[in-house]
Amino acid sequence: EVVNTNDYLNMIVDDFQLSLDSKSIKFNKNISVNNEILIDKFYFTTAVLNILENAVKYGKEDLEIHISATTKENFTISIKDNGIGIPKKQQQFLFDKFYRVGNKEVHNVKGLGLGLYYTHQIIKAHKGGVFVESEENIGTTFTIQIPLK
Ligand code: ATP
Ligand code: MG
Repeated sequence: EVVNTNDYLNMIVDDFQLSLDSKSIKFNKNISVNNEILIDKFYFTTAVLNILENAVKYGKEDLEIHISATTKENFTISIKDNGIGIPKKQQQFLFDKFYRVGNKEVHNVKGLGLGLYYTHQIIKAHKGGVFVESEENIGTTFTIQIPLK
């Protein structure tokens, strides 16, 4: 389906914000993009939502999520949180099926370890990539990139 990147991202962010009833989250949208793009809307949305859900799930108090996007040769979406972060050694396994970081901060947070696996599969199917940058106790940035055409 062909979507307008600006409308599409605003839709995702607004819907996600509505789904978070009690938590107070600061969203900082810096979405300066206005392009048409071909995506499988259902799956691509799932891929983005998995990352947004993790930002909330592995967040600390005073959660802040910054979302930014650009369209040049690629459509790039970055989702940055100020949560617990992911140790360097664990980062290479994040997209593996059923992988979860087993430290004490997260042992009472429920999950199957499938969200990022699916995100990666979906983005690969769009001929793109998903990347992580993270520092423990500082936060995590996931970047999704797919070609414009
Ligand atoms: P599921 O998404 O299937 O409910 P999950 O959240 O554990 O379960 P993934 O979304 O695949 O699985 O994430 C894998 C692991 O990566 C998580 O268990 C968590 O340890 C770590 N992780 C993912 N996103 C973040 C984040 N934003 N901050 C800190 N850790 C994260
Ligand atoms: Mg998850």
